[in-house]
Amino acid sequence: MNDIIPFLNLKSSYKQIKEEIDQSIHRVLESGNYILGDEVIKFEEDWASYCETRYAVGVGNGLDALRIALLAIDIKPGDEVIVPAHTFIATWLAISSVGAIPVPVDINEDSYNLQKTNLEGAISERTKAIIPVHMYGKPCDLQEIRLITSKYNLYIIEDAAQAHGSLYQNKKIGGFGDLTCWSFYPGKNLGALGDGGAITTDNLILAEKVLRLRNYGSTTKYVNRVKGINSRLDTIQAGILNVKLKYLDKWNLRRSEIAKIYDNNLKESINFKKPEIPIDGNQSCWHLYVIQCSQRNKLQNYLSEKGIQTLIHYPIPPFKQEAYKEFNGIYMPKASNVCTKILSLPICPFMSNAMVDHVINHINYFGDHYT
Ligand SMILES: *Cc1c(COP(=O)(O)O)cnc(C)c1O
Repeated sequence: MNDIIPFLNLKSSYKQIKEEIDQSIHRVLESGNYILGDEVIKFEEDWASYCETRYAVGVGNGLDALRIALLAIDIKPGDEVIVPAHTFIATWLAISSVGAIPVPVDINEDSYNLQKTNLEGAISERTKAIIPVHMYGKPCDLQEIRLITSKYNLYIIEDAAQAHGSLYQNKKIGGFGDLTCWSFYPGKNLGALGDGGAITTDNLILAEKVLRLRNYGSTTKYVNRVKGINSRLDTIQAGILNVKLKYLDKWNLRRSEIAKIYDNNLKESINFKKPEIPIDGNQSCWHLYVIQCSQRNKLQNYLSEKGIQTLIHYPIPPFKQEAYKEFNGIYMPKASNVCTKILSLPICPFMSNAMVDHVINHINYFGDHYT
């Protein structure tokens, strides 16, 4: 095989369902109803039902979903919100954007999720909420987190931007926390063809707050009950999501097949570790398949020479970014360590078995000859 294996081919996934997508866009254009139109309402209903929750509210993107969720639980400047040290920076930025203070906790190096034994030590008088992130699709131990938040009367805001269709104790992610935040960035398991996001919840009072906050603080035109923002799910994107939602389970199933082929065939060694497979009613949607290799940069270059594209999620954790200078000196050994070793292998649902085998063969060859 001499073809390039892309990490993700968004154009080819569009091509798979082009006709339906084109029709849906056309329907919105013809409807003349471009803001919070019928497609948004349909998507909100269908996304709530997919997530096994009562309510879903569409918003502009994943960062805004988190930000609106924090506003809905009345987070104020100076409040503290606990966040994993290893996550996409948006989780942290949402906290900063409402004037609150992110309080990082280190992660578990095998699950990549926040380490629950570090949680209690991070709680102070000013702590209001915890944001667990289901990294790479792997569900956090929400029951353990709930034990702690109940004890200290804290909210749970889930960052589920990587967990579309993941299961925790045989139930879909979406309704465990007080509010669960979603991104439909094009590269996510359920991705729009532009920006999009949503918040799901079983709590009517919070759902109504979120509904107002995303639309100038208003649910009745020109009646503004709170100081809201403008972050609505775009109607054209909602139409696209309505089409793609029908395929989500099928595409997730293919991702889990690919993960299984990787798991069955990649050879582990002291220098190379495969990702943990969730058990006991927990299931990952395999947003990413992340291995750890002590010679990660060398492996990535080797694969790139063979035409296999890989990515690093993420090379620099938020607390080491210039944007968070005030955190640069903190000690987060696990988060610091994994970012030197992690590598995300291609796991696009449209990869053939031959392509997956090709990736495996090259990685195993590298393991036998270069490490
Ligand atoms: C993608 C992502 C976000 C942000 O989503 P956007 O829609 O790009 O704003 C937040 N958190 C995590 C963990 C993500 O992966």
